[in-house]
Amino acid sequence: MNILIVEDHAELASEIIDYLSQNGYVCKWARTCEDALEEVSVNTFDAMLLDLGLPDGSGFEVLQSVRKTQSNMAVIIITARGELDDRINGLDLGADDYLTKPFALTELVARLYAIIRRMHGFVVNEIDLHGFTLQLQDYKVRYGEHPINLTKKEFDIFQYLVLNKNRVITRLQLTEHIWGDILEVNSDSNFIDVHVRNLRKKLDKHTTLEWFETVRNVGYRINV
Ligand code: CA
Repeated sequence: MNILIVEDHAELASEIIDYLSQNGYVCKWARTCEDALEEVSVNTFDAMLLDLGLPDGSGFEVLQSVRKTQSNMAVIIITARGELDDRINGLDLGADDYLTKPFALTELVARLYAIIRRMHGFVVNEIDLHGFTLQLQDYKVRYGEHPINLTKKEFDIFQYLVLNKNRVITRLQLTEHIWGDILEVNSDSNFIDVHVRNLRKKLDKHTTLEWFETVRNVGYRINV
């Protein structure tokens, strides 16, 4: 999952980014409204953490503008201001959740997961799919009782396709959501196929995979 952190307090931002990165998220940092708007105009994010008091304006402006173009992005407002008005304003403008600083990073991750899950129509942290069980927060997959040893990237790909079940996900989308920066990896367009091939090989040991489709020259789709 890739997350945009909009926060002008560098120390707090880097603390959040360190923690989220350790938990498998791909993070980008924007320090101002302008940076944030620039980021969302060129990248698609799964979620945004949004501070309200920014050097060049209010986070509300970012939220308003983002909601016009990216309705699928989860937005959590993080702010020192705990006032009811701000909270209501944020939720009115389309924020999904609200955290008042200081907050525990474990809580942030739990909320992120809950929102992303909900957005994709899942209510629990374990997803059952054609005999496989994905434990979202633990990066584990098993088939029945047999644990399947996936690499982090393989798990991320599997999870992303499952969350977006019944939709074709292009290689570009996978790259963006799992690696974050397209430019860095664009030099080798085959590498995503290599990860998918390895993933399929591991799953294929347990059952047939006719539900795991390769859409020629486009991407992949998991049918449920
Ligand atoms: Ca601030």
